[in-house]
Amino acid sequence: MILVTGGAGFIGSNFVLGWLAQCDEPVINLDKLTYAGNLGNLQSLAGDPRHIFVKGDICDEELVASLLAQHKPRAILNFAAESHVDRSIHGPRDFVITNVNGAFALLEAARGYWQGLDDRDKAAFRFLHVSTDEVYGTLGPEDAPFTETTAYAPNSPYSASKAASDHLVRAYHHTYGLPTLTTNCSNNYGPYHFPEKLIPLIIANARQGKPLPIYGDGQQVRDWLYVADHCTAIRRVLDAGRCGETYNIGGWNEMANLDVVRILCGILDELTPKAAGSYLDQIVHVQDRPGHDRRYAIDARKIERELGWRPVETFESGIRKTVEWYLAHDDWVRNVQSGDYLGWMDTNYANRATPER
Ligand code: NAD
Repeated sequence: MILVTGGAGFIGSNFVLGWLAQCDEPVINLDKLTYAGNLGNLQSLAGDPRHIFVKGDICDEELVASLLAQHKPRAILNFAAESHVDRSIHGPRDFVITNVNGAFALLEAARGYWQGLDDRDKAAFRFLHVSTDEVYGTLGPEDAPFTETTAYAPNSPYSASKAASDHLVRAYHHTYGLPTLTTNCSNNYGPYHFPEKLIPLIIANARQGKPLPIYGDGQQVRDWLYVADHCTAIRRVLDAGRCGETYNIGGWNEMANLDVVRILCGILDELTPKAAGSYLDQIVHVQDRPGHDRRYAIDARKIERELGWRPVETFESGIRKTVEWYLAHDDWVRNVQSGDYLGWMDTNYANRATPER
């Protein structure tokens, strides 16, 4: 049994689906179902006894402690977070509450549970914290990619809250000996990605004839990783990572936002051509995000060398799969867009900006 938090979100739901496709070890899925949590992602698991869904908050330490006491998982994987940089600029409070206080509550519950285990279970237990490359700040064009020893320099309320949680995880290992693992991954893309983030937003807007807004000059560089590859890396770290260590996960796919959008337009032009012209004609440049980091790049050699992990997808293969998935799942996009998403977009940045994650 493993406890996954945030398993109704983008990466968490991909992880849970992949996990149960590969093994029969049950999953307790603790998710608050914020605007970003969508049980529709897990529809294929309805009635599956291996998936126990619990609607709840990671900040609720008592709830977490009771789930641990009841189900006795051998690991906790923390995906739950407020994850959208633009939202963190407009309203940072929720980010500190969930990403910092929530991680703290989870760690406290995990510590109490772990300390009560017998020696064998204690040695086998793992607390895996899923984090981001954004904690390292921004790179110049010639700088070497982030390694696990790069100093933290978070620039947005989102990345600062994730950095704080990473530090708490580190401290719980150092101080209490809790067997922790931390992963810092680059930008993910793939199925079930909420359409406030760059790639699904561009696909949805293109299909709906709306502008494709690009922040500033669009030359912000990100490393991109297909979500299934991220999930495989997390499993490898859970299975074989050294306790107390952090592992950078990335796809060696640095790309400027504008190039990502152009590639998407090219694939859409091929797979679902417009009556006239190209989706490229819908691109508009809009005012840049305040404090926008210019470049992130991940050096993933540690996880490759120590754990033998490598991404399966190239950007070309992964992005094509992603577009095909969205084209085949219009209903999923429509469902998401008919909820809180639309109201929030209208009042906060409807078509004014292109978010990245
Ligand atoms: P997401 O926003 O799609 O999903 C987050 C999930 O957490 C949602 O299901 C939401 O309902 C749940 N949640 C939020 N607050 C909660 C709370 N207080 N208690 C319980 N559940 C709560 O996020 P994502 O993109 O899937 O990211 C998952 C994790 O991976 C995050 O920790 C994020 O920082 C990290 N990460 C994301 C990316 C990326 O590109 N998306 C890259 C690297 C790391």
